[in-house]
Amino acid sequence: MCGIFGCISKQPQNLIKKTLEGLKILEYRGYDSAGIAYITQSKLKVIKQIGGLEQLIKKVKNQPDTTICIGHTRWATNGAVSVENSHPHLSIDGTIAVVHNGIIENYQDCRKQLETKGIKLRTPVDTEIIPNILCYTYNNKHNIHKYLKGQYVFCAVNYKKQSLFIAKKGNLPLYIGQDQQVIYITSDTLALPNSVTQIISMNNLETCEINGSKISFFYLNRPIKKQWQPFNQSFTSSNKNGFSTYMEKEINEIPSITQQIIFQYTNNNNLLKLRQKFQQDLKNTKCIHLCACGTSYHAALILANIIETNLHIRAIAHISSELSETTLLDEPSLAIVISQSGETADTLNCIDILDTKQIPIIALCNITTSTIAKRSKYTFPLLCGPEIAVASTKAFYAAVLVGYLLFNSKTTISSSNLIRNITTTLKISRHLLHIPTQLPNKIFIIGKGINYYLALEAALKIKEVTYLHCEGYPANELKHGPLSMVDNKTLAIAFGTDTANAIAEITARGGKVITIPTPTPSSQLSSISQIIPIQIFALDLALSLGYNPDKPRNLAKSVTVL
Ligand code: GLU
Repeated sequence: MCGIFGCISKQPQNLIKKTLEGLKILEYRGYDSAGIAYITQSKLKVIKQIGGLEQLIKKVKNQPDTTICIGHTRWATNGAVSVENSHPHLSIDGTIAVVHNGIIENYQDCRKQLETKGIKLRTPVDTEIIPNILCYTYNNKHNIHKYLKGQYVFCAVNYKKQSLFIAKKGNLPLYIGQDQQVIYITSDTLALPNSVTQIISMNNLETCEINGSKISFFYLNRPIKKQWQPFNQSFTSSNKNGFSTYMEKEINEIPSITQQIIFQYTNNNNLLKLRQKFQQDLKNTKCIHLCACGTSYHAALILANIIETNLHIRAIAHISSELSETTLLDEPSLAIVISQSGETADTLNCIDILDTKQIPIIALCNITTSTIAKRSKYTFPLLCGPEIAVASTKAFYAAVLVGYLLFNSKTTISSSNLIRNITTTLKISRHLLHIPTQLPNKIFIIGKGINYYLALEAALKIKEVTYLHCEGYPANELKHGPLSMVDNKTLAIAFGTDTANAIAEITARGGKVITIPTPTPSSQLSSISQIIPIQIFALDLALSLGYNPDKPRNLAKSVTVL
């Protein structure tokens, strides 16, 4: 999904290269066009292109030193995918360029107002009103949130002032980072170079102006002070570590992240101390509401089951976008939100609802500088390093594991058995599930209890990267409907040892069934490793069909729109 990256420095230097490098890292989020704007001696130069960043890089022939450069990867919401509609958008006089994520809901009204002043916009894109209202309408730009409706973040270069202006309304992320020489603006901290040691995150209704190295912040037009937070990004996110895809690399990291999580969470009695943090809230609660989307929702379903069986507290998993003001939440409740990126818009919307009911929120997030982490009472990191492939694999495993450790009465966990189990499963995955010589016309994944939730996640993984129709189903429920679809072109994958009847019903109708063996010794946690062979199967099937599993069509890594 959309991305913003920009740089400003006192001394001219190759900021175009830095901006393109930042955009390259944001690529994983998914986009349809990209562009940059930079200051030259005589004007603001804009270069944009549809398609991948490589096409834009080809178009950027020279990289002169400059003091300001901003860039954008667009995921079109208003206006078709075209060079003209992509960002940066220029004011009609060419002195202000803007990159923007989100949607300006009242852009039609703004457009009409501009037209009454004789300013005729060139595109149907909501973004184009921003440089023009900054240029022609308001004396005080720090008042801009009063006029613009919707959720947005944007970054504007002002050629005359040689400055950057930044604004944020709503839940979309925007950060400022700095190293010795350059100040960076980014919608995702992953894109910041390793030299950045401090960051500031922009909050709702704030604006910021940067001139050289001078930064001033405002909240609804009132000057405010903000503190730099230490930042350390000591990994190289663009390294596939010898694997041909990020997806394969990330699946192969599951054993090491398991070790890392268990060590960090259990070392030195840490687990008791961590649980102590939310003990009071847990004691008071009658129901735990888990909220998440996609893969994280499947982790939430599994955790709800773990919580009910281990803590004997009622636990309900909600799809974030289905939680509403009318959902019954009023008993003393506690909420757990799960999000890899910590920026998922639907889950942030849940936080708005949970806040109105004053329900304490625990976040399980991979990015602990994220908006979800900041807005939650407690945040527990997933500790699995950057996940670049759009289809989540290791973060799913990490969310279940972290949740299992926190919401359990057990105080110790033997990691060696678990890691041995996972490593073996990883090794034998390709023997368990071969790519079928004849492509199935439909795939069912079946299981009972936790294995049913695992089946839902397995089916999602196959859908995401292979574009084949695949459904996760409770094993015994199959005969109550979908069995009518089973024929000799059906493939079924069964989890667990308790699916014998369903397997017999499928094979009797010509369907092919592959059983994933339950790891021994079997436990709630060890059974989760059964997802690994399916993750590998989805990856291999996608590759055999000629698809890039790291960037499935139509999908984005962190879904920052509602
Ligand atoms: N609404 C803007 C557009 O359609 C921004 C989209 C985005 O967030 O990338 O161009």
